[in-house]
Amino acid sequence: MRIVVCVKPVPLTVELDRTTARVDRTGPVGLAAVDEHAIETALRIRDSSEGAEVILLALTAATAFDSLRPGLAIGADRAVVIAGPEFEGSDLLGTSLALAEAARALAPDLLVFGASSSDGNGAMLWAAVAARLDLPVVSRAISAEVARGRVTATRQMEFGLDVVEADLPAVLAISGEIAAPRYPSFRDVIGAKKKTVEVLGLGSGIDVPAERVGAAGSRTTVLGIRETSPRGTRTIIRDEGDAHVQLAAFLRERRLL
Ligand SMILES: Cc1cc2nc3c(=O)[nH]c(=O)nc-3n(C[C@H](O)[C@H](O)[C@H](O)COP(=O)(O)OP(=O)(O)OC[C@H]3O[C@@H](n4cnc5c(N)ncnc54)[C@H](O)[C@@H]3O)c2cc1C
Repeated sequence: MRIVVCVKPVPLTVELDRTTARVDRTGPVGLAAVDEHAIETALRIRDSSEGAEVILLALTAATAFDSLRPGLAIGADRAVVIAGPEFEGSDLLGTSLALAEAARALAPDLLVFGASSSDGNGAMLWAAVAARLDLPVVSRAISAEVARGRVTATRQMEFGLDVVEADLPAVLAISGEIAAPRYPSFRDVIGAKKKTVEVLGLGSGIDVPAERVGAAGSRTTVLGIRETSPRGTRTIIRDEGDAHVQLAAFLRERRLL
């Protein structure tokens, strides 16, 4: 069984670039916490199926390749990265097109996504990729297992829990806290440096028209960015055994109790 996990290296501090009105991606990047949970979920499914493999897939800048190493250190078998200046400025359409093209070639049984990354935050990509590949989607999964050619997941809904099944191949979008990622040993960290990171680009693995990716292929435009006004004064209650009393007094003063 082949499991592909789509992961996005995100800036460690999200700053907006006022000239381009985009997220500034020039600083250090790392895997989003939700994507580490997605990798852990994939590893657990792999470890319960003989001969299975986990591949990380990212559309990202060449400078971000090393941020995938922690995912390889905790056990992913290899990584495939789509990179190149042609992809810069890709909105949901271009991003989903490039990832779907790479995923089609990898032919996974299960394509795993995090719910929502900390920079794009649209929580739409898994649905868009699934639509392009005509695959069923199981979203908001808080647990998942694969057996007899099907993925079964428990979904966190506002009113309770759903248990949903889909035939493989399928897309699984996990909720944030599904599976705490394991810690790599020193040997795993060193071993990750030797794992393959295959690079695909426009015309080399991603054979789509240039005008359908990057800024050229984007059908949304960011018109402006602005900072939100700072929050009002905060009151921090330090608990020295009487926090409940202080909290009640605080609420009572404001006629909230
Ligand atoms: C006009 C415009 C320009 C943009 N330009 C850029 C840009 O230059 N660079 C950029 O990084 N983003 C850019 N974005 C943001 C980008 O389009 C979205 O982050 C992307 O489409 C993901 O969709 P999402 O927000 O629904 O998914 P998210 O909520 O961001 O992520 C959900 C899950 O999808 C997966 N995922 C998300 N992104 C990737 C990825 N790139 N590779 C693999 N897996 C992924 C992860 O599993 C993640 O947990 C731009 C957006 C707009 C509107």
